[in-house]
Amino acid sequence: MKLPEKVTKLKAYDPITGSYAVRLDANESYFDLPAVLKSKLADRLEQIDLNRYPDSAATEVVNAFAAFYGISPDCVTAGNGSDEIITLLLTCFLEKGARLVTVSPDFSMYAFYAKLAELEVVTVEKEENLQIDMNKLIAACQKADAVVFSNPCNPTSLGIPRAEIIRLIESAPDCLIIADEAYMDFWDESVLDLVTKYDNLIVLRTCSKAIGLAAARMGFAVMDPYKTGLLRAAKSPYNCDAVSQMICSTVLRETSLLNNCRDEIIVQTQRLYTALTDLARQYPELIDTVYAPRTNFVFVKTAYAKEIYEAMLKAGIAVRCFPHGLRICAGTRREHTLLLSELENILQPK
Ligand code: PMP
Repeated sequence: MKLPEKVTKLKAYDPITGSYAVRLDANESYFDLPAVLKSKLADRLEQIDLNRYPDSAATEVVNAFAAFYGISPDCVTAGNGSDEIITLLLTCFLEKGARLVTVSPDFSMYAFYAKLAELEVVTVEKEENLQIDMNKLIAACQKADAVVFSNPCNPTSLGIPRAEIIRLIESAPDCLIIADEAYMDFWDESVLDLVTKYDNLIVLRTCSKAIGLAAARMGFAVMDPYKTGLLRAAKSPYNCDAVSQMICSTVLRETSLLNNCRDEIIVQTQRLYTALTDLARQYPELIDTVYAPRTNFVFVKTAYAKEIYEAMLKAGIAVRCFPHGLRICAGTRREHTLLLSELENILQPK
């Protein structure tokens, strides 16, 4: 039997595994839930009938998400992480062979899922300064069926202002604009409120970053009620399990806790950025640029990414390595101290 090359030649996503003293590689929140809230969740777990299928519409979590962001639940579909939503959208909202625009560098899973969905991918390369040339992107989208990009961007940490996203949406009305706002809690240029104004706009959100629930696997697609109905019909009926639904719906109602954690992460990210900028000034021949982040991580452009990354791993510190740089997630003060002293150690002339 012959299986298609799209699966036999597939290169699996390769997250860092193993145990490291400091994990700053996956853009997670460094806050776990407070013990009192965990014990409230444990009580609620006892009330779940584990022998029964979960709520197919994930009603509680959809309502909690919509209330947290001040939008209508009729525009929200819950998924098993935004990863599931991305693959669903590319498979169900686009025909085989349709043209999808991506930008580079960006979140690698867009091209991965596009291949599985048998789409034609057109990639718009970012400029030398890692910013996107919006006119170039608009021109590509005017000849395409859809575009998907993260804003703010993983891995560059840079953002496209709301006005520019609106210009894109209005300039390419026949192109489905999928704006992945996984990190938008750390910035304030969201277009979440525009999904009922523009029928070519879909916004993605996740509980894995600022909400601090990467383990629960919960993501959301936000779009007008008509398309929401289509996506809800197309998804598998029980895509979000009952335990995750309970956890996420409970935590999404903890508004002040979530806002405080988010604010604290933003402060820590700025501290990390300042410290890395100082280090870059000290070692200009080794570190090219440290980008001002709109996210919970900092991108450091360096020609020595691989060498630094490997030396850091040996020292028990995991960051993420890219061809042109390192992506370092904000952590606790202690983690930053360890990271910075190890970095300094690696960069110092021997
Ligand atoms: N979009 C972006 C831009 C991401 O960085 C990530 C996770 N790294 C995801 C989506 C996937 O998030 P989730 O955990 O909700 O599947």
